[in-house]
Amino acid sequence: MPGALYVVATPIGNLDDITLRAIRTLKEVAVIACEDTRRTGLLLARYEIKSRLISYYEPREGRRIPQLMALLKEGRDVALVSDAGTPAISDPGFKLVREAVREGIRVVPIPGPSALAAALSAGGLPTHRFLFAGFPPPKAEALRKSLSALAEQDGTLIFYLPGRKLASFLAAVMETLGDRDVVIARELTKIHEEFVRGKASALAIVAESREYKGEMTVLVAGKAK
Ligand code: SAM
Repeated sequence: MPGALYVVATPIGNLDDITLRAIRTLKEVAVIACEDTRRTGLLLARYEIKSRLISYYEPREGRRIPQLMALLKEGRDVALVSDAGTPAISDPGFKLVREAVREGIRVVPIPGPSALAAALSAGGLPTHRFLFAGFPPPKAEALRKSLSALAEQDGTLIFYLPGRKLASFLAAVMETLGDRDVVIARELTKIHEEFVRGKASALAIVAESREYKGEMTVLVAGKAK
């Protein structure tokens, strides 16, 4: 019988944010495919998990997929984790999951943290409808285009953003979507966790005078009805 591919969510900062099922699964699988063996190694050390690590990151996906598929077909269970949060969400994983599905391998989600859910759940903008836009394009023109394409969406828009891009991102939001409510959710679950809420114009002024460091998820209100 083939093994199963477990897609395991891991903490986005606070190492306590891991489920009992995730720990048990990581202990029981033959192999854990991870982005960075050193980073995942810290998590494994904390929970005394001794399973073998194999690196699985974007440029290597093509080479790793046949190796992992061979293990699964031999009957070994494999876990997929990323550096933080839920694998395959703005992280490597989709191609392996797609291949496993194609080959009739059982794919089992082990749900847990994801920055988008954490930011949305505590951000204070409407949650009944939302659109996860991932990382916006880095170049100004492409950014404006992609934001313009979202202008009619009435659900909350969710972006992953490097802190240094905040000022130019907010300027593009004002230009393409108007002066909407924005929530900056940074360093979630970590010591310096912070939510900064306000109109895009007000936050743009703050962003000019203050350097935002660390990990950041940004919510932008959808189009008013
Ligand atoms: N797969 C992950 C997930 O499920 O959230 C996301 C991986 S993506 C490569 C990393 C981005 O997620 C960061 O650049 C940031 O935008 C967001 N992020 C990750 N951890 C975060 C945190 N602790 N606080 C706020 N945003 C975070």
